[in-house]
Amino acid sequence: MSNPSEPGYRVLMALLFGLSGQPPAWRADAACADTDPELFFDSQHTADALAVCAGCPVLDLCRADHTTWESATRSRRFYASGVVGGTTASSRNQTYYPRKQSREDVA
Ligand code: SF4
Repeated sequence: MSNPSEPGYRVLMALLFGLSGQPPAWRADAACADTDPELFFDSQHTADALAVCAGCPVLDLCRADHTTWESATRSRRFYASGVVGGTTASSRNQTYYPRKQSREDVA
């Protein structure tokens, strides 16, 4: 569904990017722009995806936008997936749902 004239395109874009329906301008400078998106969701290549992010000129903007987006709903936080903004899903999950300290951790 990448054709703006297709039914549902504008709805999908609004769901992804808000009322403007436009991706943020910083995405034009993303280091991953020409990278297969599967790289960021393949657990066998997490280090490769993190390496792409490490050299990305818009890493901070990407991380901030994604954190805002993912934090917006419980389901997005709960089902965090993929490498985004130089972070893994598990590291973001740990941020959203920090492990409670056990008695052994405190002692
Ligand atoms: S930080 Fe990573 S995921 Fe975000 S735009 Fe850059 S390369 Fe892509």
